[in-house]
Amino acid sequence: MSLLDAYRLRTEPSISLEFFPPKTESGKTNLLERIERMSVLEPTFITVTWGAGGTTADKTLELAGLVSQHLAIPVCMHLTCTNMDPEIIDGALERCRSLGIKNILALRGDPPIDLDDETGIHFSYASDLVQYIKNKYRSEFSVGVAAYPEGHPSENDEVQDVTKDLVHLKQKIDAGADFVITQLFYDVEKFLTFEKLFRERVSETVPIFPGLMPINSFVLFNRSAKNSHASIPTKIIDKFPVEIQNDDNAVKSIGVDILMEIIQEIFERTDKRVRCFHFYTLNLEKAIAQIVSQSSILSYIIDESEDEYDNALIDGNG
Ligand code: FAD
Repeated sequence: MSLLDAYRLRTEPSISLEFFPPKTESGKTNLLERIERMSVLEPTFITVTWGAGGTTADKTLELAGLVSQHLAIPVCMHLTCTNMDPEIIDGALERCRSLGIKNILALRGDPPIDLDDETGIHFSYASDLVQYIKNKYRSEFSVGVAAYPEGHPSENDEVQDVTKDLVHLKQKIDAGADFVITQLFYDVEKFLTFEKLFRERVSETVPIFPGLMPINSFVLFNRSAKNSHASIPTKIIDKFPVEIQNDDNAVKSIGVDILMEIIQEIFERTDKRVRCFHFYTLNLEKAIAQIVSQSSILSYIIDESEDEYDNALIDGNG
């Protein structure tokens, strides 16, 4: 099913989940069990990441295919175009076709370090990939694109002006993109400003799914935010006094509260326009289950099966 159809059928708030393909067979088996358990959270869609240059192609396609075939949840496969020839893109899309995957997140990816490499000169930006898929495969795939509420970092690692980036985001939408998933952020004001500008300058209707990463440890939280150029507001940092920063359970629990507040605030302050919240799961489960079960706007999802799911989680380690 197209993830857009699934999204439009749901009027209540919901979540979506991103996973990456594990390296080992046992990792894959564990993850599939976890994803199946997490289906209780009724994600509107599930996405699977793709290593830039096709480094995880087989594993990504295998995981996306297994999820697509075993769960009645739309799957969206990430696909990068930097360093990729059209034949490789077509090969991946043909396999998606045969696996029943109907949604693609079209990305540029980060360019290879070896800039003399001539492979992939066909696609300079994600908008080229959107255009390629839409021209060749028409409506067979719903195509999503990435957006950056705090601007996309340029090659010299300086953060761009959001409004500059919006011009390029508009190119992706004009090329036919159907939905937008954002980079992770913790500053709600920055997301709200971005969403408003997007509605004014890019599209009134294309859905935006805000990217959220649960806080599993203080070190990881800071590292992920830094790597993604996401600022952390002082009022959030202040919630983690030094004496609890090494206590992962305490950090997780505060993190659950923070994420619930972010979700609630976005839902209310966008007048429910934004109602599907995309989690970068890092293939972990517990924090997301807690956020959903405790959030005043999402808890309706697992009310009925909560005990069963809570019991299942006690055995899990993530
Ligand atoms: P683009 O939209 O092409 O933009 C890249 C840069 O070029 C931006 O600075 C933009 O402003 C600029 N630009 C765009 N068009 C033009 C133009 N015509 N002229 C001049 N400048 C232009 N990476 C992976 O490798 N695998 C993944 O699975 C993956 N998943 C992701 C999922 C999400 C939700 C997000 C937000 C990012 C993901 N990434 C992934 C990271 C992404 O590949 C990088 O951030 C990459 O650097 C940019 O990709 P993009 O699709 O946003 O590129």
